Amino acid sequence: MRPSDAEAPAPPRSAATSDIVAREDTHTSGLYQKRRLAIVRGEGARLWDAEGNEYIDCVGGQGSANLGHGNAAVAEAIAAQARTLASCTELFYNDRRAELYSVLSRILPPDLDRVFLCNSGAEAVEAAFKFARMATKRTRIVATMRGFHGKTMGALAATWGPEYRDALGGDALFPGTAHVPFNKVEALEAAITPDTAAFVLELVQGEGGVRPATEEFAREAARVCKARGALLIVDEVQTGFCRTGAMFAIERYGIVPDALCLAKSIAGGVPMGAVAFSRAFGDLPKRSHSTTFGGNPLACAASVAAIGEMRRLDLARNARARGDQLLGGLRGIESPRVREVRGLGLLCGIELKESAGPTIKGLQDRGVLALGAGPTVVRYLPPLVITAEQVDRVVAATAAALA
Ligand SMILES: *Cc1c(COP(=O)(O)O)cnc(C)c1O
Repeated sequence: MRPSDAEAPAPPRSAATSDIVAREDTHTSGLYQKRRLAIVRGEGARLWDAEGNEYIDCVGGQGSANLGHGNAAVAEAIAAQARTLASCTELFYNDRRAELYSVLSRILPPDLDRVFLCNSGAEAVEAAFKFARMATKRTRIVATMRGFHGKTMGALAATWGPEYRDALGGDALFPGTAHVPFNKVEALEAAITPDTAAFVLELVQGEGGVRPATEEFAREAARVCKARGALLIVDEVQTGFCRTGAMFAIERYGIVPDALCLAKSIAGGVPMGAVAFSRAFGDLPKRSHSTTFGGNPLACAASVAAIGEMRRLDLARNARARGDQLLGGLRGIESPRVREVRGLGLLCGIELKESAGPTIKGLQDRGVLALGAGPTVVRYLPPLVITAEQVDRVVAATAAALA
């Protein structure tokens, strides 16, 4: 043994999966349905488990890893800001927050020139609902069937899933909330009334089964909201930040809502949410809403770096190209088990005629991590840095899993 070896740190060794699982299972809330896989490292669109097995990541942090794992510019920005100033509430002004507002204003529609910063998608939706109620002095929220907007109490009013709502009293808990059938244009006129504060819409329903809105539905929603004096809130928590092949899906649909909810990939994996909103909201009463961590310099620095990288790497273009490749590849799979292949950009799904579980497991066994979207849909949400060769492997693994 050389003398220095005694002081050298032990070589990095991953704890065995069973040890990680046992320790988590002892203390977890029990709320999450987990796969027995301990993920310990990532790079680009690849992940590794504690046993050293490599996977192509089509879970993408459920939408929070658009930029890919281990981005160096984001890592540097986080480290530098952590050393400089991590905490600074909106009691004060801050250089990083000011910089983020400027960066956001360059990628958002000019009308959405005010931003509330928070910490998650549900929190962005909650804030948008409060702002809409304060601005319109109306209380009703209209949402869509199969829509997903988060699981906190207010956001849950708009989220469709009866499995999330029924134990809490269902519609009785959220009086005045209505859900219209998604993409049913005729339903909008009747549902959005002079009592409606806001209509909330995903342009591609993510959790609800990877269902793109029709352009007609999106445009008609905007028209009816305007006619009734209701505010249009587009929830781009999952579709935002290049996922659908544009910085925001509203660009692909040619609409500008009154408010845009953002989160997931906004800060390169650091928790952050945002509501960008227009002057239609008027002046919101001071102190009527706030959050301690909102606009903290650490998340702002991460977001500035992440958005810079999305533009430098032209992730919108890659999402379009790789999305077309993935959708084309999946559509080319001939299997009697497939009902339909849907998607926009790199938000893709296969609806099966059976439960999606076995196919997701089959993909995992072949080195591809994918996720569900409702009981029968396999959803692909890879980091947008995924390569053509990796997409080919995902398609091949899917064909094998469905064979
Ligand atoms: C994930 C998601 C949310 C909720 O975001 P959280 O950060 O999990 O609270 C809201 N809306 C949409 C469309 C989502 O995909």
